[in-house]
Amino acid sequence: MDTASHSTKHVFAFEEGNGKDKKLLGGKGANLCEMTQIGLNVPPGFVISTAACLEYLDSPARALPAGVMDEVRAQMQVLEAKTGKGFGNPEDPLLVSVRSGSAMSMPGMMDTILNLGLNTETLQGLIRQTGDPRFGYDAYRRFIQLFGKVALGVPDELFDHEFEAVKDKAHVKEDIGLSAADLKEISERFLKVVEAHTGAPFPGDPLEQLEIAIKAVFNSWMGKRAVDYRRQFHITPDMAHGTAVNVVTMVFGNRGNDSGTGVAFTRNPGTGENKLFGEYLLNAQGEDVVAGIRTPKPIDRLRDEMPEMARQLDDLRDKLESHYREIQDFEFTIERGQLFCLQTRNGKMNAQAMVRTSVEMEREGLITKEQALLRIAPDLLEQMLFPRLDPKARAEAVAQGLPASPGAASGIAVFDADRAEQMGRELGQKVILVREETKPEDIHGFFASEGILTSRGGKTSHAAVVARGMGKPCVAGAEGIVVDVNRREAYVGETSFREGQVITIDGTTGKVYLGAIPTVEPDFSPELNTLLAWADEVASLEVMANADTPDDARSALKYGAVGIGLARTERMFNDPARLPIVIEMIVADSSEDRQAALDRLLPLQRSDFRELFEVMSPRPVTIRLLDPPIHEFLPDEHQLERELIELRRLAETTRGMVVLSGTMSLIHASDGARRELDAMRRMIDPALVEDAIAKKETMLRKVRVLYETNPMLGHRGVRLGITFPEIYQMQIRAILEAAAECARMGIEVHPQIKVPQVCTAQELKRVKSYVDTIHEEVKQRYGHPVNFKFGTMIEVVRACMRAESLAEVAEFFSFGTNDLTQATFSFSREDAENKFLPLYNQSTILQDNPFEVLDVKGVGKLMKLAVEWGKQTRPDIHVGICGEHGGHPSSIAFCQEAGLDYVSCSAPRVPVARLAAAHAALGAKL
Ligand code: PEP
Ligand code: MG
Repeated sequence: MDTASHSTKHVFAFEEGNGKDKKLLGGKGANLCEMTQIGLNVPPGFVISTAACLEYLDSPARALPAGVMDEVRAQMQVLEAKTGKGFGNPEDPLLVSVRSGSAMSMPGMMDTILNLGLNTETLQGLIRQTGDPRFGYDAYRRFIQLFGKVALGVPDELFDHEFEAVKDKAHVKEDIGLSAADLKEISERFLKVVEAHTGAPFPGDPLEQLEIAIKAVFNSWMGKRAVDYRRQFHITPDMAHGTAVNVVTMVFGNRGNDSGTGVAFTRNPGTGENKLFGEYLLNAQGEDVVAGIRTPKPIDRLRDEMPEMARQLDDLRDKLESHYREIQDFEFTIERGQLFCLQTRNGKMNAQAMVRTSVEMEREGLITKEQALLRIAPDLLEQMLFPRLDPKARAEAVAQGLPASPGAASGIAVFDADRAEQMGRELGQKVILVREETKPEDIHGFFASEGILTSRGGKTSHAAVVARGMGKPCVAGAEGIVVDVNRREAYVGETSFREGQVITIDGTTGKVYLGAIPTVEPDFSPELNTLLAWADEVASLEVMANADTPDDARSALKYGAVGIGLARTERMFNDPARLPIVIEMIVADSSEDRQAALDRLLPLQRSDFRELFEVMSPRPVTIRLLDPPIHEFLPDEHQLERELIELRRLAETTRGMVVLSGTMSLIHASDGARRELDAMRRMIDPALVEDAIAKKETMLRKVRVLYETNPMLGHRGVRLGITFPEIYQMQIRAILEAAAECARMGIEVHPQIKVPQVCTAQELKRVKSYVDTIHEEVKQRYGHPVNFKFGTMIEVVRACMRAESLAEVAEFFSFGTNDLTQATFSFSREDAENKFLPLYNQSTILQDNPFEVLDVKGVGKLMKLAVEWGKQTRPDIHVGICGEHGGHPSSIAFCQEAGLDYVSCSAPRVPVARLAAAHAALGAKL
């Protein structure tokens, strides 16, 4: 005989099992051991190890390892001694539950068997113990069915059939209406079902029942459900190998009014308040609480009904928290005045409760600041920063898009930016701007809207980026929606919504709803500020904000940004008041005309920058020179063609009107008639219309000249600054003059100028030459130099490859990972997320969406090379990231590893990034 297996211990009493060894005892078993050993009153029991399971499954005849049943019998005797009851004793029967439990929680495995140990004799003992025949027979028929199904493989339908037959006979609709006699009949019929199906009588010997149950638990590890589950969730043997079996003494909460059952959290999971939170039922079993047959009472009431139990529950709460140092969600049963803890686990809480409990537990000395930070997933903070859909609201989404900017909002649908402005700003309505996709010229519509919905575009599309910057919800790329701007209607499958109809969007999930769904307001609590201050103490990455306007900058400060890492200047160009000047500059045929328009833009830009500097003083403000292709500021070609057709029609009409008024003046010569005709002539001045036509034609010509098949890879960024130097020169002048003006007023400013889309040092040198010349002029004019930095975006693959050369000119690098991801994958950032990326993610060709989670293996590798090579040339070069990944926790951890100095993200994302930066620093320390 194999002596090794004899000497191996397979069965562990709760007092002796190692509560940390989940691999050997399973999660549940280890937890029961730990609870017992810290002095909680857990019903006595023991665990049969996962090693026994693996040995059993390996044995050709599926036999339990030698000695296991001896150990089990010995443990049962210990249970008998502890409880004073006897396993199989008809006078005072000991009953147990049998449960599976592996190192990972796995719903694919065996269900729990309750009341094991019941047979026709012990049943009478149970009835005597409880004084309740109905309860006794109910327990018995449940045991036969569960044991029959999970341990003996009898199909449920066979039991259901008998159950329904008795109900019919008794003319009873609900189970609750069955009498003890009915339940007795059911259990007798169930025994017959088992015998007929298995060919053997239902096992009456409790030890035989136990052995069968143990084997059934072990077998369930290789059951189809469990195998499929492990495959689906990638549970490897390393994570969980085999299941343990937990055998636990049954305790009953339904043995009279000195018994009961309940569930509780050691603190309030909704608010974090340091007070026991939960509910209970007297004279009831756990099932009654779950099934909702009776309404449980709030835990406070227990103080009146059972003061001693309430005191013991407080004691239990203190023990749980001081041991686990985490909020616990636990189950308890009171059996005849004795409190048992059946289960405990870390409590799941909302963000507000997580933050409050982190801060309070640190103050109570339960956890350190580092633990307080690490127990909160940074993304969870979003709940505290944006309105959410009320979790209690039940609503069916009509469409699903990309969750492009978090938060939820309701409002009436409008289909263009002007209308949004009119309804939102002027008429004070709450509106949701619905577009196929948005363009820079829609910006005024963003300001006036509660949220943005587009049917095209990805998470780095214009709509997504701008909405995130403003902290407004956005659902992008909801391709199930067809937007018909002309009819002012959107079609979603069978339904549709028109302008003026209320819709709700949830930018956190990407869902779109018809009608108004209630929302819950965010809560930026004082505890959150405390927690984030601790985060800043440990973080080494600085967190800056992407902010384009003074309002954005103010919100960046509110959220704790240490500077602006990216101000996209195109937002300023799109202000409705100055867009006409920008258009004038673009359509200008000569450089003199262009300069004239730029001269008008200069003071406007200067004041934009001055305001940004003032708000952020003394923090750095990084301004990016113009990036998008300039045709984006012009109207769409088709729109211009349509407008020209209208204008030409109007020109004919006005000519006709002139003829008409001339004719009429000959016929009606009175003064009054003449005055009316003069007014009419002024109104329909054909010269005005001709002028409008000429302007539109010029614009159309320009739009056609500027047309590019692939504008994203086209005439944009620094290419624009080199072909139209006067645009960049105007911006550079505006930055330096604004800084000089601030300095003159005693305001400390740290402007940084950065150049987009650079791929060679020659481009940077060219722009730097503009900067140097203009700086000289500004120095002369203001009488002092301006303290500024000059740097580059790194968003082109060649820029990474030539980093050592770029660093000769650039004092800082700012990774534009939106474009760099696009360039590295050759995936269009506008289309990929709606077309093939979902399938790539589903079929795990790619694990994540690279526009959301930084692709460490590819894009990250390029970044690391660029940092290394850049530092070889300029060791103190300041390096950061300003793509959308700058606000994403795991990407932030990578930035720390890659040696970056800062991350920059949209203002409302700054708190998430601050906590993630702390996690990254703490992770790096481990
Ligand atoms: C980027 O490309 O990552 C970036 C920040 O610039 P934009 O999104 O404006 O192209
Ligand atoms: Mg870019």
